[in-house]
Amino acid sequence: MDVELVSIGNELLLGYTIDTNAAYFAREAAAQGIRVVRRATVGDGPEEIAAAVREALARTGAVITSGGLGPTADDLTKPSIAEIFGRGMTLDEGILEDLKQRWAKRGWPGELPAANRNQALIPAGAEIIRNDHGSAPGIWLEDEQGRWCAMLPGVPREFRGMAREQLIPRLVARRGEAVGLVVRSRTLRTTGIAESKLADEMGELAKDPLGTRLAYLPGWEGVDLRITVWNEPSDRAATLLDDAERAIREKVGAWMYGLDDDDLAVLMLQQLRARGLKIAVAESCTGGMLGMRLTAIPGSSDVVDGGTIAYANHVKVRELGVRDATLQAQGAVSEETAREMASGVRARFGVDVGVSITGVAGPGGGTPEKPVGTVCVAVDLRGELRSARTTMVGDRHEVRQRSTQAALNLLRRALAG
Ligand code: AMP
Ligand code: MG
Repeated sequence: MDVELVSIGNELLLGYTIDTNAAYFAREAAAQGIRVVRRATVGDGPEEIAAAVREALARTGAVITSGGLGPTADDLTKPSIAEIFGRGMTLDEGILEDLKQRWAKRGWPGELPAANRNQALIPAGAEIIRNDHGSAPGIWLEDEQGRWCAMLPGVPREFRGMAREQLIPRLVARRGEAVGLVVRSRTLRTTGIAESKLADEMGELAKDPLGTRLAYLPGWEGVDLRITVWNEPSDRAATLLDDAERAIREKVGAWMYGLDDDDLAVLMLQQLRARGLKIAVAESCTGGMLGMRLTAIPGSSDVVDGGTIAYANHVKVRELGVRDATLQAQGAVSEETAREMASGVRARFGVDVGVSITGVAGPGGGTPEKPVGTVCVAVDLRGELRSARTTMVGDRHEVRQRSTQAALNLLRRALAG
């Protein structure tokens, strides 16, 4: 099944908002064998919306719009598209009642604003697509020839929820299971290894392993290997992905920490929790970013005790017990300093695991021996010390992000033994 997407909003054209809805839909739909064959972005003007939808209906007869279902004057999607289908707008009492109740429940004063009533106007003969994530319902409009347009709100949380729960299942049912060839991907997440080295290690698998297509996707968390299977029945797609994953794991499993949306911080927290270990962090150049990553995870309090931001050398000495002699001889950015920071924070917090980061985030402060991006990390796991020194690429922010990942990766290796 082929569909087209029309994303609506001046902010998308101006570049202030990135069209994450279209990307999300394309991915989720492909996994169900529904292909997005064309995407358009238009502003909020009724003529622009109508023109884009009219063209798409003429081509594929299957159109999904995102945006412009809000209560304000710039939300003109519904009437513009109703006109293409030759339908007028009618007030839906059920939606109006629902909007009134939502308003009352929020405890806002007064009656439902007149502007909100616009959201209860729907094209005559339209079906409503449930929205369990917000107030504006989606609209399904179809003509006698079976050409249809599905309108979803632009708010990403609402769009995603409705696409996943309502629209894609509806399209799958419409298409029928029989012709269900799917496009499916799996991401194998690696870290601590360069893209080129990864390709070397993979050998023959480096290019399109075992009937899948392979993409190398480097980012601050590491290099993701995305394998994709095109146009196969769903069970065969799964088998191909399983086989390719197994083969790749055999080659580069040591650098692999997870799959798909796995976050290394979440995985480490789970492992620490499973073993009943508590952690504290000592951070210099990252200024708390590792602590932030760990505490961003719900329920982290049973694993994370706290941390010290030891940015200045005297704080490394006073709060973590780093030795002056070490700082003099090796410098603040050194594996030895990182090790003393990890042991120091572990001892002072009385926890099982201390993790530390010290580095040159840049853009200034680099030297020939320690260029910008030089970062040392250390882990003290119940007295067992490990450290690593690497040179990160990227700007200051990226060096700091990469540093948190390097520290977590060292922790992963320490826990693996
Ligand atoms: P709207 O439904 O047009 O009122 O949009 C509501 C909010 O969702 C606005 O803050 C938009 O910037 C945002 N938004 C609209 N369309 C998209 C899109 N395609 N991708 C990401 N955000 C969007
Ligand atoms: Mg809008």
